[in-house]
Amino acid sequence: MGSDGSTPAVTGLVADFDLTPWNTMGLASRAAFGAVVTGVDQLVALAAAARAEGLAFHVIGQGSNLLLRPRIEGIVAVMATRGVSVDDRSPDTTLVTAQAGESWSGLVEHTVTQGMPGLENLAGIPGTVGAAPVQNIGAYGLELADRFHSLLAWDLAEARTRRFDGSDCGFAYRNSVFKAEAGRYVVLEVTLALPRRWTPVLGYAGLRELPPGSDALTIMRHVLAIRASKLPDWRQQGNAGSFFHNPVVTPAVAETIDGGPRFPHPDGVKLSAAWLIDACGFKGHRLGSAAVSDRHALVLVNRGGATYAEVAALATAIRDAVRSRFGVTLTQEPLEF
Ligand SMILES: Cc1cc2nc3c(=O)[nH]c(=O)nc-3n(C[C@H](O)[C@H](O)[C@H](O)COP(=O)(O)OP(=O)(O)OC[C@H]3O[C@@H](n4cnc5c(N)ncnc54)[C@H](O)[C@@H]3O)c2cc1C
Repeated sequence: MGSDGSTPAVTGLVADFDLTPWNTMGLASRAAFGAVVTGVDQLVALAAAARAEGLAFHVIGQGSNLLLRPRIEGIVAVMATRGVSVDDRSPDTTLVTAQAGESWSGLVEHTVTQGMPGLENLAGIPGTVGAAPVQNIGAYGLELADRFHSLLAWDLAEARTRRFDGSDCGFAYRNSVFKAEAGRYVVLEVTLALPRRWTPVLGYAGLRELPPGSDALTIMRHVLAIRASKLPDWRQQGNAGSFFHNPVVTPAVAETIDGGPRFPHPDGVKLSAAWLIDACGFKGHRLGSAAVSDRHALVLVNRGGATYAEVAALATAIRDAVRSRFGVTLTQEPLEF
């Protein structure tokens, strides 16, 4: 059934769909079937068709957190729904609702430049609004959960819409129910609560140098400048941002490692994956056309024409080296289809 109770027709489905432009790593990849989704009924119809045909159903946004295999079976739906609305009736918060296919960084720039501060620390993160809750995106001392109000999702298991508030989402560090129960929910729209009595979040390294009275526009520009100086631009050199999570280890394991940053964590000690990789000599290391960025050891880049196999082999070599030298297991951040 469609979102309004009717049975919508399948539209926009393409066989042998080219996903190469839909992943920031720039890997060549084709899906058995794919569609660019511009409306909720279209999504519902595609999901129903996949179910009826016994096909796998995948939903992606911009593909900025994905490692795509050359061939993907089933249907891949690219969320491209658009629309942003603002509800400023509450005295405490401005509620901003954006459709899943909106650009996250575009939304941040729109709200900040329109005098609605609150998202500035999350400027410049690639990807779509719909994917932002999936790994509870975060940067520079702020995460999505801090500005989250609610979201509307399509429940693929029950074929109905469901509204989630913050406590339903199971937000944690780069995690949520949408990641834990991958494949069950499609995020349709996200509502953010932007504080009317806004105070800047400047506690994170890199932002502390800003004066306490800095406005949101200044902070956003500063964040964008730091990101541009640290990370390779995926438009020039394909990448999926941080390739590994920072590992959390026991204090005993942390003791055995000589050097490198460490941060207190409720489950032990958080180490810097970038430092561990760099210490194993991988910065700038190449494997075919895949490489570890020479600017940031946590970023694997496509130097042009890299294959899934090359990136996966490089990731395995890094994981093996870090495990063998430090006894620490790195986990991969980008999801694989
Ligand atoms: C250069 C670079 C820098 C980055 N910096 C950061 C950073 O600072 N902080 C950070 O947290 N992340 C960062 N990332 C990772 C990435 O930008 C985020 O994870 C982003 O939210 C992914 O959005 P996307 O639309 O590209 O999702 P995709 O990569 O297309 O998909 C990611 C996952 O979300 C699922 N998904 C996508 N859309 C939906 C939907 N509508 N409903 C349900 N599930 C969905 C997919 O199935 C997949 O499992 C960075 C990536 C790059 C390339």
